[in-house]
Amino acid sequence: MGETYNAYKEFKKIVQSSGEKMGISEDEYKVFLYPEREFMVSIPIKMDNGKTEVFKGYRVQHSGIRGPYKGGIRFHPDVDIDEVRALAGWMTMKCAVVDIPYGGAKGGIQCDPAKLSKQELERLTRKYTMMIEPIIGEDIDIPAPDVNTNAQIMGWIYDTYSTIKGKSIPGVVTGKPLVIGGCASRVAATGRGVVITIENLLKEMKKDITETTAAIQGFGNVGSITAQLLYEKGCKVIAVSDVSGGLYNPDGLDIRELLDYIGPERKLLSGFDKEGVSHISNEDILTLNVDVLVPAALENQINADIAEKTGAKYIVEGANGPTTNEADKILKERGIIVVPDILANAGGVVVSYFEWVQNRECDRWEDDVCNNKLKAIVDAAFNEVWLTAEEKDVTLREAAYMVAMKRLIETQKIRGLFP
Ligand code: NAD
Repeated sequence: MGETYNAYKEFKKIVQSSGEKMGISEDEYKVFLYPEREFMVSIPIKMDNGKTEVFKGYRVQHSGIRGPYKGGIRFHPDVDIDEVRALAGWMTMKCAVVDIPYGGAKGGIQCDPAKLSKQELERLTRKYTMMIEPIIGEDIDIPAPDVNTNAQIMGWIYDTYSTIKGKSIPGVVTGKPLVIGGCASRVAATGRGVVITIENLLKEMKKDITETTAAIQGFGNVGSITAQLLYEKGCKVIAVSDVSGGLYNPDGLDIRELLDYIGPERKLLSGFDKEGVSHISNEDILTLNVDVLVPAALENQINADIAEKTGAKYIVEGANGPTTNEADKILKERGIIVVPDILANAGGVVVSYFEWVQNRECDRWEDDVCNNKLKAIVDAAFNEVWLTAEEKDVTLREAAYMVAMKRLIETQKIRGLFP
């Protein structure tokens, strides 16, 4: 049996191995192995039944060397300090690989939002915001949505922070509802970035999207929008899943019908019933014979065992950290191409950056301006990573880290270490 999965250890390993492959000394990349600041809070809130509950909350700022810290906030029972450290580190690398002027951070609350009422969720979000207020700000650290957090939650963060400061500061958080300074393209941005990445990959593979099959694990923000956009482009999406399990149709699923079925209340896929559609497990979805597999749920889904068994030709990581380092080695030996998270799912933070720029300039851009700029950034980053992989004969993940670390190390050299 291998060692227990630890996301932060995985992050450190890939930084170290990329540093070695770049032929640089540990002294040059050491600073990126550790978060600059870790903030932990105990959040007491009154539950609807009158009792007090105390939740653990985190905000980890990994690197601010290239700009304000930036990263989402996750509400999930498995949130812990090492997960948040890893997610923060991945954000630093992601912002650097697509070359936007941000550092990396991440936050989270250990909770199960499905068991909280809307009022409890609001009190928890507002109290957490109040407690991390000293370390966030539009020039300092800008949160955004992640697993189980959405535009409404970002709206509460914005309102709480602005109330404390005595003025409206929309740039303190991105992924807000449109009416309070959100960017219409933000909701779909991560999925759109995943699909732009897939199109770039298929171009390299000389394969048409209409002759491509896909399976997608996770049917939340990232997974459902990836599925929808692929479907609209004529890709045959043969399987999708959420926490309740998966749906499979070798002739292709009707994604619009599934989106109508889950509705705004986000019904679980296990309740969907239709002739020709079978129910499969979350492990089955990862091992199907398919052209493109998009893990878009959580980290540690493609482990060594799945890597041995998967029938996917290409894996495009919608989620952060879905593939373990051990699995990566097996996938490489098996000739399965993996487009890493820090490149494939960067669309979200890129459009968050556009939202922040608009907020700061009191401006509003048209949707197609955002989408065209997003495509230009993702295309350029894909190209740079692809060429680096070819030139250095490394995997796309190693190449993406090389591109990101080169930028970070250059910045570090110019800024120097104070004092
Ligand atoms: P979400 O909460 O909207 O959706 C998560 C989905 O995963 C849900 O469908 C849920 O049912 C499913 N899921 C949870 N556990 C699962 C399991 N064990 N097996 C299968 N499915 C499971 O979250 P999201 O925002 O779509 O984020 C998904 C992933 O993408 C995360 O890794 C997140 O960090 C990453 N990501 C999100 C964004 C963003 O803009 N939201 C940006 C970049 C990366």
